Amino acid sequence: MRFEYPRHLRFRCLRCALCCRDTEVRERRILLLEMEARRISEATSMEVEEFAERIEGSEPFLYRMRKREGRCLFLRGNFCSIYEIRPIICRFYPFQLENLGGDRYRFSYTEECPGIGEGPELGREFFEELFEEFLKVMATI
Ligand code: SF4
Repeated sequence: MRFEYPRHLRFRCLRCALCCRDTEVRERRILLLEMEARRISEATSMEVEEFAERIEGSEPFLYRMRKREGRCLFLRGNFCSIYEIRPIICRFYPFQLENLGGDRYRFSYTEECPGIGEGPELGREFFEELFEEFLKVMATI
């Protein structure tokens, strides 16, 4: 498998939690795989329906995280209370992985994130780790 990634890009998460809530211009859709919803349910002792709603048309994602006042249900202040088991969509933000056909992929990013342009330049290792996460999750589907 091969992937392309943005060169000479700087990024550091500023812990602003923008990616965990709606903004004036964007409604956040925090999508969950079934396995992720189950894992969160086990860790929090909540029923899946309490924190997520079932959706159709976004397979392999089968759930959407519920929000309270436009914020992810698991956000406490600016901190994620399920950080260690957060969904892959949250692990990836502000990056996305697009399939270019066959075994070719490309990472892109959103300028919405204020952490873009901050911090150290990202090297191939950073994207390799993300890509491995992606492969691990895909192997469970
Ligand atoms: S929007 Fe960007 S900088 Fe802010 S918490 Fe999310 S990833 Fe970090």
